[in-house]
Amino acid sequence: MRLQNTGLRFAILGSGSRGNAALIECGRTALLLDCGFSARETAARLARHDRHHGKLSAILITHEHSDHCRGVASCARRFGVPVWMTAGTWSALKGQFDADTDIRLINPHEAFAIGDIEVQPFPVPHDAREPCQFSFSNGDTRFGFLTDIGSITTHVVDMLGDCDALVLECNHDARMLRDGPYPPSLKARIAGEHGHLENRVAAELLSRVMSPRLRYVAAAHLSETNNTPALAQAALARAMGCEPEWIDVAEQEEGLAFHHVSEAWV
Ligand SMILES: [Zn+2]
Ligand SMILES: [Zn+2]
Repeated sequence: MRLQNTGLRFAILGSGSRGNAALIECGRTALLLDCGFSARETAARLARHDRHHGKLSAILITHEHSDHCRGVASCARRFGVPVWMTAGTWSALKGQFDADTDIRLINPHEAFAIGDIEVQPFPVPHDAREPCQFSFSNGDTRFGFLTDIGSITTHVVDMLGDCDALVLECNHDARMLRDGPYPPSLKARIAGEHGHLENRVAAELLSRVMSPRLRYVAAAHLSETNNTPALAQAALARAMGCEPEWIDVAEQEEGLAFHHVSEAWV
């Protein structure tokens, strides 16, 4: 039998309010999670991670906000891949797609497989029509990805309690948002129950899902106006009981280099 790498790994192509996309790989499957950059920009960012857009298997969308799906219609057309999303997200986006785009609607309470990757969706409180976030598994190790969530629910805690690696939104620092330049209505939206996660709330979530399995944590979707990498790292490190440098930070331009959640060969 031919050796096949079933290791689970991911990289982040960019993270923040100017565009989000991540790449998750296992075996022969390469999944693009969100598509917040144009097709040309997505291809360039994939190339920076030594990947070619022709090798993508599918695109998976969390919700319809433009920082997560600005490029999805053009990427689906140019890369020739199916797009997976909830019915609510589809209802917000369908006008953008070519009629022959391969759309796969998902139930946000039901696990499904995309090639070699098991995907577990879960709904999140965020101001979109049917937003969900995901964990990914190769049947052995699990990786959780959570951004664009305004408050913690027990369901989210349950869904992330069994992860080997986690990417968590650390959108803003409460004091920086309060004292910052945004208009009051935008401050209220961001800090609201259906807005974005504050550093200390992300840290509280981390302390609730922590287990001996958890060996990697990265902060993502940081506001460039209302947060700093050092504040996000400090908050998550306090929850983990580790050095701040141990927490990785996904950046808007650079994203995050590949992390191997597992490196199994069978
Ligand atoms: Zn977002
Ligand atoms: Zn959003």
